[in-house]
Amino acid sequence: MLPKAVMTKAQSELLDWNGLGTSVMEVSHRSKEFIALTDRAEADLRELMSIPANYHVLFMHGGGRGQFSAVVNNFLGKNGRALYLESGSWSSSAVAEARKLTSDGQIDTIDLLVEDNGVKRVQLPDFSAANDDYRYLHYCPNETVDGIEIFDDINCPWPIVADMSSNIMSREIDVSKFGLIYAGAQKNIGPSGLSIVIVRDDMLKLPSLPQSSIMDYRLAVKHGSMYNTPPTFAWYLAAEVFDWLKQKGGVSAMAEVNDKKAQCLYQFIDSCDFYENRVGQANRSQMNVVFYLKDETLNDTFLNQAKAAGLVALKGHRSVGGMRASIYNAMPLEGVEKLVEFMKDFAEKNS
Ligand SMILES: *Cc1c(COP(=O)(O)O)cnc(C)c1O
Repeated sequence: MLPKAVMTKAQSELLDWNGLGTSVMEVSHRSKEFIALTDRAEADLRELMSIPANYHVLFMHGGGRGQFSAVVNNFLGKNGRALYLESGSWSSSAVAEARKLTSDGQIDTIDLLVEDNGVKRVQLPDFSAANDDYRYLHYCPNETVDGIEIFDDINCPWPIVADMSSNIMSREIDVSKFGLIYAGAQKNIGPSGLSIVIVRDDMLKLPSLPQSSIMDYRLAVKHGSMYNTPPTFAWYLAAEVFDWLKQKGGVSAMAEVNDKKAQCLYQFIDSCDFYENRVGQANRSQMNVVFYLKDETLNDTFLNQAKAAGLVALKGHRSVGGMRASIYNAMPLEGVEKLVEFMKDFAEKNS
């Protein structure tokens, strides 16, 4: 979901942006008006996330998955090694991509998931005595498909690369603890296709592999994310979302609402025998609430009736089944309350 205020503004200026008499899609990405937009977008994102000066902010192509390969090609060179933590579907996809691009022995993995009685939780390794020479550690703080979030910091001697596609700006984080943060835009920022990369400048000294120029961080830095024509409309909408976030009180204000939203939904699920959640308390995602009807034969009826009530996109990912409520920044508390009301009603009628 994108903020309605942003969509309405985009609609109103679709044919005439900035008094130019043309759409933002029709102006040159090198025009002074568009450059003013990108400067503002970067400044706003830096402010929202308190990004330190020794980090570059890049607006790139290729979504979240594009970065799975970009990270490898930019940081591993011919024989560098990296450690990947696995906690669900997306972190495992990142491993598969990394293995495809490297030789045996370059990519090590640790499975973080522990399961007791069908409930999954994350157990972080103790790296205090680790002495491997990894170029980076990769992990995914919020597993979008599985509804598993890692709130604790990872303490390790290597630069941390984090896939924050589905939880960027959902709560405050300390950017200085990361070597690189990336996020496909379509969950908390704007339209798909665009990805945000926040990279510490010393990371760019690592040896890279020959690679596609448009995914090369060094070229992106050098050309202000305009080595080739950037996804200008997506960039424009992202800038509008940043503006909206600032007006709403920034990331801390979002975090407060996100916490309320998630609490509201999880508390209801826990209190009602009709539904269940299979993630341990400490790792329940604030953004993606995955839940199951105990009687799964009612799944289709649930989805159809939800849709009729204006509650859409509730079907869980095909790999895990069940239901998933993605309650990103733009989803208001009222949206979650409406869902809970519907779920309560459905449970009463079908128990
Ligand atoms: C959605 C998602 C991706 C993939 O994004 P694409 O833009 O579809 O490539 C990667 N990682 C996470 C955590 C995601 O939620």
